[in-house]
Amino acid sequence: MLLVAATTIYELGGTTTSSIIDYTTFYAALEGGGIKSVVMRGDEVEGKLAPPRVVDGVEVTSFHTTLPSREDATLLPLMRDKGVIVRIDDERKFSWTRELAGLLPWLLILGAWFWMSRRAMPGSGQNPLAGVLSKQGKRFEEETAVDVRFDDVAGLDGAKRDLGEIVDFLREPERFERLGGKMPRGVLLVGAPGTGKTLLARAVAGEAGVPFFSIAASEFIELFVGVGASRVRDLFRAAKKAPHAIIFIDELDAVGRARGAGLGGGNDEREQTLNQLLAAMDGFDRSDHVVVLAATNRPDVLDSALLRPGRFDRRIVVELPARAAREAILRVASRGKPVAVDVDYAAIAGSTPGLSGADLANLVNEATLRAIRRGADEVHGSDFALAYDKILLGEPSDSHLAPAEKHRVAVHEAGHALVAHVLDGASPLRRVSILPRGRTLGATQQAPRSDTHLHTKSELLARLAVLLGGYAAEKLVLGEVSTGAENDLREASHLAQRMVGQLGMSEGLGPVFHEHRSEHPFLGARIATDSGVSDATVYAIERETQRLLSEAEGSARATLTNHRQRLDALLEALLERETLDEEGLATLLCG
Ligand code: ADP
Ligand code: ZN
Repeated sequence: MLLVAATTIYELGGTTTSSIIDYTTFYAALEGGGIKSVVMRGDEVEGKLAPPRVVDGVEVTSFHTTLPSREDATLLPLMRDKGVIVRIDDERKFSWTRELAGLLPWLLILGAWFWMSRRAMPGSGQNPLAGVLSKQGKRFEEETAVDVRFDDVAGLDGAKRDLGEIVDFLREPERFERLGGKMPRGVLLVGAPGTGKTLLARAVAGEAGVPFFSIAASEFIELFVGVGASRVRDLFRAAKKAPHAIIFIDELDAVGRARGAGLGGGNDEREQTLNQLLAAMDGFDRSDHVVVLAATNRPDVLDSALLRPGRFDRRIVVELPARAAREAILRVASRGKPVAVDVDYAAIAGSTPGLSGADLANLVNEATLRAIRRGADEVHGSDFALAYDKILLGEPSDSHLAPAEKHRVAVHEAGHALVAHVLDGASPLRRVSILPRGRTLGATQQAPRSDTHLHTKSELLARLAVLLGGYAAEKLVLGEVSTGAENDLREASHLAQRMVGQLGMSEGLGPVFHEHRSEHPFLGARIATDSGVSDATVYAIERETQRLLSEAEGSARATLTNHRQRLDALLEALLERETLDEEGLATLLCG
């Protein structure tokens, strides 16, 4: 029996000429001398039969079989004995399943990549490939005509003055060069998030009428090593093509951190990118009228090579807005919005120290949304007040407190409030509330001091006591404390540590600044280079911190005990009315 399974595989030519046979049959035919020639491709064997055989009325001249995976050592000698012509074909026969199996891991990687890139760029169009390709090729933004002017940037007069020089330069580089002036290359804008650094950079491009190329430094660094460096090259090449241009690199510290400062080896990709950035800045010549602006909040962590002459050698500080600037920002942000005449920008500016330009723009936006939701035509002062509460405390939440919890929250807040009211040096009370909002169950709000730059030791001690007032009240009135004081304790501990270790406000340690426990960006470098703080010092700082905190708690407790009647009255009023504003508090506590 030679041809067992008569499965046809080639259907061309009408009559079947080839059959698949099993290995045993193949071997038997070989022993019987019925095989003329074979072609071997890997473990596949195709062959010709010496005399054709007829099976089921079909003449079969060739066959196909598969060799066992374990090599049969007798096969080749036997074929030689029987005079079979053997050809080894190296080109493996194309097999879809095999090829697909080989491709599968790659398909998975590619699929994951598509998925990530689509998530990273919502609305990037129907064709995911287009998204990936353009993402690969060009990751920076290019704005050819920027419509922002210095006029759109409120406050920041000093920064605008300094940057004005760069605008002049970009407008008439020839004039500057003729007079022997040197092109400024890199300017570092230093300031907290939301202070308007990006806005300023765009305004420079807008004023000078040059294209604006921008990227966030964190975007340089991606999955693959070398991508960052090539993105830097692409960015600078594109900018150099324009006669004049501004390059803006946001969050410079993401790539610009000092090299070799990490623990356990640096990040190669980041360092390569940084090196490329340094090289790109050195690669400018006199004919390239490109100015690089970069923004950071952490100039202290930058690699010193970035700050050398010819690189980011100019520094412009972008400060949080003071009162007048806040008012101006509010006005700029309200442009084109239907704000009612009753809105007192000066008053809002007065009550919002510490807010950045972005926060204020957000405030205007929230207030407008609120007015729209109300169905009103104009944005009123009350919309601003409610928007401010929302930004500060979060949206009122629906969560309902059980009576016992509500009582505890009232005790806690009344404690904060009473200490704030009684202690000299504490900021005046503005509002106390036990309505749950956002992440808080209750809140005691003190009026912000108008743009103070300095705080005295007694003010900070009062602040510690106010922070611990809630904790002390729970202990005093309810006999034990709860988890509700965690945030207060964290803030109080931070403050106390700073007072002892960095502000020279403890008699025990005296006038000294220790980096102990202060957030240090170069942990690795610090461990390696011995920070000079002895264990004894660390211990002393911790003990002094502890002492300050206990004293603050003592002062809070004493205040609450001495004014127990007022505490109880406050508690009762809070439970009844839930929110007490400035006037309500005044009649209750002072009357
Ligand atoms: P940064 O780059 O410093 O994080 P941005 O420039 O991105 O801050 O500011 C975010 C937004 O905040 C701006 O688009 C603008 O609406 C508003 N803003 C911030 N500062 C100012 C300012 N000085 N004048 C007007 N608007 C400002
Ligand atoms: Zn509290």
